Parts: sequence; structure tokens; C-alpha cells
Amino acid sequence: MAINSPRGTSDIFGDEIFYRDCIVDSAKKLFELFNYTRIITPAFEHTEIFNRGIGKSTDIVKKEMYTFPDRKGRSLTLRPEGTAPVVRAIIEHKLYSSKIPIKLFYIENMFRYERPQKGRMREFWQLGVEAAGVDNPLIDAEVIWLLALIFEELGFKNLKLLINSVGCENCRPQYIGVFKDYLKPYLESLCPDCRERYNTNPLRIFDCKIPSCIKIINNSPKIYSHICGRCSSHFKKVIELLKILNIPFVIKEELVRGFDYYTRTIFEIISEDLDSVQNALGGGGRYDKLIEQFGGPSIPSIGFAVGIDRTIVLMKQLGISWQIKKEPHNVFIILLEERFENYGLEFLNYLRRSSIKCDISFEIKKISTQIKWAEKNGFSHAAIIGEDELKSDNITVKNLADFKQSQFNWKKEPQKIYEILK
Ligand SMILES: [Zn+2]
Ligand SMILES: [Zn+2]
Repeated sequence: MAINSPRGTSDIFGDEIFYRDCIVDSAKKLFELFNYTRIITPAFEHTEIFNRGIGKSTDIVKKEMYTFPDRKGRSLTLRPEGTAPVVRAIIEHKLYSSKIPIKLFYIENMFRYERPQKGRMREFWQLGVEAAGVDNPLIDAEVIWLLALIFEELGFKNLKLLINSVGCENCRPQYIGVFKDYLKPYLESLCPDCRERYNTNPLRIFDCKIPSCIKIINNSPKIYSHICGRCSSHFKKVIELLKILNIPFVIKEELVRGFDYYTRTIFEIISEDLDSVQNALGGGGRYDKLIEQFGGPSIPSIGFAVGIDRTIVLMKQLGISWQIKKEPHNVFIILLEERFENYGLEFLNYLRRSSIKCDISFEIKKISTQIKWAEKNGFSHAAIIGEDELKSDNITVKNLADFKQSQFNWKKEPQKIYEILK
């Protein structure tokens, strides 16, 4: 029997939990500030949700989904991303009927069958937002602003936004025609994947990492110069708003991002402190047609996602760290003999009711060993319970920094503990 977690998964504990909590707490505060509320969707959905939502020709759907039949033969898939499930929930609960815009955030684990590497596991965590129901470029600016702030708050420096427009259902097909005409003479030089993409979804060729394909793409006409007037004025307005918010940006015409559902504004935030291959921190885009494609009403939407595990890797790489917030008052209770247990439990109860972080020794050991253990585990004080304490309702508290001792009757003077710990 294998006593290890499956490939691409990991147990998260200790320091990793601390990093994770800091990221999540900091993001949650911003979500609240921006008036987003949380949604939790199931870990698995009907496979159809992702086939339709993400697009059949994407790598995620073709190669990376954990899809399995349940016991009744229904095809289910562990969620590989957060947007399609949220869209499904918006339609299922008709969230648009009571409130527009619908501003939601999620913090969830995702599953993709990929080659595991640092910061990219088969089970990974993402946080993200979806804002549904607004066409106004103001919401594009708000969502991008929120994404940038998440990293700013965490301590990332030299942030830059990459932004592009991938057009709409009117102008994109026209561009794809132009793009295919350009590619035709190079077809034989493209990799097998890209040759297939040429027929199924040519825009995906922009995602190819193979140098010979990148070379061909570099000189190709870009969608940005082929968007329609409506898309163009929307994009210009977004740029205008970003300037007001002082968010540095670069228009990157090759940016397409890996999902079929994106329309118009797409974006990525990078840190210029990281090398250019692995510098993306998070990104997203508009998906104006997705809700309609799912059978919902026609409501334009926009969102982003951030990989939590990857953010941790990058923070460590850049030396961004927080001081572990040590609880300044915490007490370790040491019992000199087993028969003081009941009294020890009473005292533990008193401390915890007083909101003082504490713990008790579960074994009788030499007092010096116990004190060493308490120091090593970050306790600031030790409370020692012996015969005298039991008889007098007194407690002896030892400050582990200077070894000063104080005694007090905790039943008669319950407030005194705060003074001693101060
Ligand atoms: Zn357009
Ligand atoms: Zn290729």
C-alpha cells in the first residue's frame, strides 16, 4: 500500500498554511471592500459544463480534466477552473433577477491533470472574482484594479498590467479569416498541435510554446488592429480609467489567454521582478457571451483568477515574507504531578474564557524539560501547578523571557492575569 499522497497533490501544513491564510485573509478584506460576496460551488460538475464553458478545443478540456463516470454512469468532472461553475450557479439560481451586477468571489481547489512542477500541482488553489451583468468599462477597470491591489497588498513590487482586446462575436470571425490567410503558407512549419488548432480554434496558436510556432506568430496580424468600432471604444475607455487609477499597463497584442470564452478585454498582471517566462501573477477577462451560451440571459461579465500556490512560490522567490504574528500573551500550563490535573483543567478553562491563548502539558515530566519545550514552541509564560497552588487557589506564572515569577489568586482576582501578561 502506498503511504504517500497521489502525484500532483500535497499536504499543506505549518508555514505553508500561514502563507496561505495571509493571502486569503488579505484578498478577502479587499473583496469585502469592493462589495463582492463569496460563493462556494461543488468540487465536481456535469462534464458538459466545462466542455461547453471552457471550449472543447482547449488543452484543459482535451487533456487535463479529471473526468469519471459516477455509479449511475453520469459523466462528472472535478472542476479545472472557477468561472464555468459560477456561471452555472448564476443561471441555476437566477441570481440576475434580484441584483445586477452580481459580484462574487471564490476561494477553491481546482484539479487539472498536468505534469506537476513547482507551483503547479494537479490539485491547486485559486481565488477569483466574477462580476456579471455590466457592459460598462468601469467594471473592467474595477476588476483589474482589484487584481492589482491583491498583489500590492501582499508586498509585490514593480507590478505591470498586460492588456489586450480579443474582440467580439462580430469582429473576431473576420479577424480569424485574416489570420488563417496569413498562416496558410506556413502550415507545414507549424507543430502538429497548431496544425490541428488551425482548423478547430486558430487563436489557440498564440498559446503555443514551441519556438518555431512563436516565430511565425510574431509577424502575424494581431487581433487588436482588427477589432470593431464598438470593441475599440470600449477598450479605449478601459485604458482611460486605468490611467485615472494609476495602474501601469502595456497593450500586449499577442495576449489571448487559454479559454475560449473570453471576449473584448483580457488582462494579466505581472511583476517585472520576475523573469519573463514565469512572471504572470494572475489574469482574466470578459466573457460577454458565456452566460447566454449556457442558456441564461444575455449578460456581459468579467472576472479573474489567481493561483494561490503559485503566489506562495513567487513570494518566497522574491523574498516577500511576513513576520509570523506571535500571540504576545500565551501560557503553557505545567503540572508537577498527575493529581493536579483537575485543578489544571479548571485553570485552563479560566484562561481560555479570558481569551488567552494557552495549552497544558499532557505528560508529567521534569520541570526544566517542560520549560524548554514551552520556550521552543513560542510560549511567553509558563504557569506551574503544584501542591501550594492547589491549596491556595494561587497560580505561579513565570515569564520565559526574564524568568520573573508572579503569584496571584486567580479565583479572587481574575483580571490580574492581564496585568501579569502585559
Ligand atoms: Zn467587436
Ligand atoms: Zn505550435
